[in-house]
Amino acid sequence: MRLRSLKDKDILLDNCDYLIKNYKEIKGNWQKKFKNNNPIHLEIGMGKGDFIQGMARKYPDINFIGIEKYDKVIGRAIKKYPVKLPNLFVINMDAKDLEKAFDKEISHIYLNFSDPWPKDRHAKRRLTSIEFLKIYDKVFKDKKRITLKTDNLILFASSLVSLNNYGYKFLNVNLDLANSDIPNVLTEYEVKFQNMGVRINYLDVEKLN
Ligand code: SAM
Repeated sequence: MRLRSLKDKDILLDNCDYLIKNYKEIKGNWQKKFKNNNPIHLEIGMGKGDFIQGMARKYPDINFIGIEKYDKVIGRAIKKYPVKLPNLFVINMDAKDLEKAFDKEISHIYLNFSDPWPKDRHAKRRLTSIEFLKIYDKVFKDKKRITLKTDNLILFASSLVSLNNYGYKFLNVNLDLANSDIPNVLTEYEVKFQNMGVRINYLDVEKLN
């Protein structure tokens, strides 16, 4: 994601009432933080937050957490969505550190237009590599569910292989999400790709243990 300077980033981050900075202290107590026992869904790489904001509005009985690696990007998300929703928090963190923020508390992970890392030597950095699937095991509750959308065929193909090898069951695979009847909340990148006529690949997988 290309970044331009964001002058008021620090002010935005310091004053946002739904950005969680002390996430290590909340580990194991997220439902208490949400003040209910609803399931917790996580988006990794939320960008400017269109998807996670849309999901939180559409599904008020689900708790959502969006994480994003870059503070400038999360600053833009906060600028775009200044108002706190009761069922949404965001965290400025890298997915490789998920275990520092969560115990076995997450029911569903969304990976939307994740960086594809197309070179073979960078395959471990893909968010569906075995390395990341092992990290997700540590934060998933008993049932694990991952939903992925991408324009990128290298990421899509390698995700099919690694999720299958890791024992995930395929609930749905679709090669043209926009022309399907799958319920969908659009992301910023998805809108850009759709406007360019690019087809969106989708997969939804589950693992019971
Ligand atoms: N999901 C958004 C969308 O679909 O519009 C943004 C897509 S953008 C291509 C990928 C985003 O994932 C970037 O904002 C990037 O900073 C973030 N990201 C990449 N690797 C990450 C990681 N390991 N942990 C957290 N965020 C990550």
